[in-house]
Amino acid sequence: MNPQTDRAAWLLGGDVRCNTEPAKPVRPRRLVLLGPPGVGKGTQAALLCAAYGACPLSTGDIFRHALAGCAGEPHTKAMESALDHMHRGELVPDRTVLELVGERGRCLSCRGGFILDGFPRTVAQAEALDHLLYVHKVTLDAVISYETRPESLAIRIAGRRTCPSCKAVYHLEAKPPRQAGVCDHCGTALVQRTDDRPEASMVRLKVYEKSTAPLIAYYREKGQLISITATGTPEEIFGKTVAIMKKKLGPA
Ligand code: AMP
Repeated sequence: MNPQTDRAAWLLGGDVRCNTEPAKPVRPRRLVLLGPPGVGKGTQAALLCAAYGACPLSTGDIFRHALAGCAGEPHTKAMESALDHMHRGELVPDRTVLELVGERGRCLSCRGGFILDGFPRTVAQAEALDHLLYVHKVTLDAVISYETRPESLAIRIAGRRTCPSCKAVYHLEAKPPRQAGVCDHCGTALVQRTDDRPEASMVRLKVYEKSTAPLIAYYREKGQLISITATGTPEEIFGKTVAIMKKKLGPA
């Protein structure tokens, strides 16, 4: 992963500012990534951010950052409850998520652009995002929906390992690190997310179908949806994404 900034503003919220401002691309990209758990959204977000100079804004990362104790303050009751939901594979209640995203609204008008990964996840969140974008005077370029055969998702999730430090994502078979169990980028020991364990991942797949899949219709009706079949290597899927984006939106 090659984030353009330290994402302090996104991960910590409040008045915190990023130490490194992103360079202003000629044409900042503002995208939402949709797709079931395990489809590879996080990997695509990292590749797209590196290519476009945008910031990866993952709501899941806010919760993992708080879980790792990086927020520097004791958890609020709402955050404790959010983390319980996350461990079980359930969605965090809209109210909590919208409060967290609302207080990070500034990240949406960041000059580098953004790639939202994991938000919105319900129609109520999508409506709230429309409002936030309006308030911050920015528009979405597109919503990319990564689609794949449901059977492949459980396998992808079971083999996923992540770096708790730099957030790089690996897969035991499809994308193993050079040294088993160790991050190629920063040497930190890789972990399996608690919500990637089988009990929680089954819940996440069901929750996606019920609450998040309806967003595909929501954004299709708004004419913002780009569907991409997420088969092949991460680089192949990335290549497909960039080609479609270029055709639809012109060069970045
Ligand atoms: P992710 O990294 O996007 O897979 O998110 C990990 C977990 O964080 C999810 O399974 C949810 O428990 C929680 N989460 C992240 N983003 C949201 C959201 N937009 N709405 C509700 N829950 C979320």
